[in-house]
Amino acid sequence: MAKRTIHYRCEQCGKLHMAQVYEGVDVAKEPQFRSRVMDASIFDFACPDCGYVNGIIYPFVYHDPDRRFLIRLIDQTVTGDPFTSLFDTEEETDAAIKGVVEDMKQRYRFRAVRTPNDLMEKIAIFEAGYDDRVIELMKIFLLSSRNDSSILHLYFAPTDDGPVFLMEIEAGFTGSIPLEETLYDSIAAKTQEAMNPADTEIDSLWASKFFDRMN
Ligand SMILES: [Zn+2]
Repeated sequence: MAKRTIHYRCEQCGKLHMAQVYEGVDVAKEPQFRSRVMDASIFDFACPDCGYVNGIIYPFVYHDPDRRFLIRLIDQTVTGDPFTSLFDTEEETDAAIKGVVEDMKQRYRFRAVRTPNDLMEKIAIFEAGYDDRVIELMKIFLLSSRNDSSILHLYFAPTDDGPVFLMEIEAGFTGSIPLEETLYDSIAAKTQEAMNPADTEIDSLWASKFFDRMN
């Protein structure tokens, strides 16, 4: 795996440091990196001077070829979807290339996320065999039916008792809502037709725009 040098300033002592980071992982080749992504330790840097552990977000690619998904963690400076050019085949005159891109869209899920938490959630969703688009639509449905404005966000999480949505409020995480398969299936069935396989930044904003389009 290719490595890159990044610079960061320690949040505690203020000193500037350099670190080597991986540009991405292929978990079929190096499965040991999966847990380092899932506990976010791949984004932790202990300051050589004061020992403080800094959480540094840097651009990163997570590739799971067995489950056929590729997720790019992009930093806040990137505006827009990094896969757009990949799927922008409207002007494409070369039929052979267009065919490859169309084939890739069918076979692979390409996703862009902006935080390590969102990266972990996507991996958990895909590993559990769910469609992240249906999951995001479900969240909007659950939030609007609860009508509780103290809930800031719902996070998909697998548990021993089945998948749930963790509820995040101002003070942190509080309780969970079980994922109802019947609701999942009914949202999936109603929305499948209207899904655009070229959409790769799937989050709450995408989900609200999707509902607006449908209504
Ligand atoms: Zn330090």
